[in-house]
Amino acid sequence: MMKKTRVIALEEHYLDPEVRAHFGPNDATRGEEVLKRLLDLTDLRLREMDEAGIDVQVLSHGSPSVQKMDAQTAVGLAHKANDRLHEALAAHPDRFAAFATIPTPAPEAAADELERAVRDLGFKGAMVHGLTNGEFLDKKKFWPIFARAEALGVPIYVHPSQPHPAVVDAYYADYAKEFPWLIRAAWGYTVETATQGIRLILSGVFNEYPRLKIIMGHMGEGLPFYLWRISQALSREGRGSKTFRDDFCEHFYITTSGFFSDPALVCCAMEMGVDRILFSVDYPFVENAPGTQWMNTVPFSAADKAKILSGNAEKLLNL
Ligand code: ZN
Repeated sequence: MMKKTRVIALEEHYLDPEVRAHFGPNDATRGEEVLKRLLDLTDLRLREMDEAGIDVQVLSHGSPSVQKMDAQTAVGLAHKANDRLHEALAAHPDRFAAFATIPTPAPEAAADELERAVRDLGFKGAMVHGLTNGEFLDKKKFWPIFARAEALGVPIYVHPSQPHPAVVDAYYADYAKEFPWLIRAAWGYTVETATQGIRLILSGVFNEYPRLKIIMGHMGEGLPFYLWRISQALSREGRGSKTFRDDFCEHFYITTSGFFSDPALVCCAMEMGVDRILFSVDYPFVENAPGTQWMNTVPFSAADKAKILSGNAEKLLNL
């Protein structure tokens, strides 16, 4: 009998009750079924993992998170949310791992909270949701977070959140009412998060922190598809010997969260190599079973599938 490949899902969300309460009644687009699952860290979640054959979920907070708070509130709530998440981990240490919530509105405190979460709570890195009160992550003020992540050897997961209000207004406002998901998972999230990735590379943060690792979900927010064109266009102005593509493939990992497409996966594998691709569902916004069923059918070798399903995550997160 062949041993079953372990399945680790990397972008799986929950909601901390106190962080959620901060934003008030913000659950309109989630729906009751999703909300119920976001608030559950025991029976329902574990049962649905079992039904789909998922062994481990790496848990992270859902959006919006502490990025959209004043510094003092963010520091206090991130600390408490991480402590509460740690209790869920301690109850099921073989089923859950976690990415920390870090208070980016106070960058030095965010670096300290990342270190505390990794060293004291056993977390595997951190997740950041979208812009921090309107600011992109490549700004120098946020670099202490990257310095600490590199020193600790853990990745930062750059996750989407609601786009900047000026962008929503200029690009999407006339369609937002009829198609509320346009500014979210259908397109708005992708544009903003891909822009985060591009800006990080342009900022030179990877020259300063050459061992820094970034994870992006949703097949790298489309960036693998555009690597050739972005690199070619930027090299017209001369970017030195290293291309945009070099930086992306050296520092970024991508996940399959909410994006179960053979053509997209093949593109990512051709651009980045299979070692950079990790399985994720984006539970509970996306259901588990279609994700694991899709992985059974992707036209890759068993060895490559095993890397995507868990081998790469085991290495990257030391699981
Ligand atoms: Zn997500």
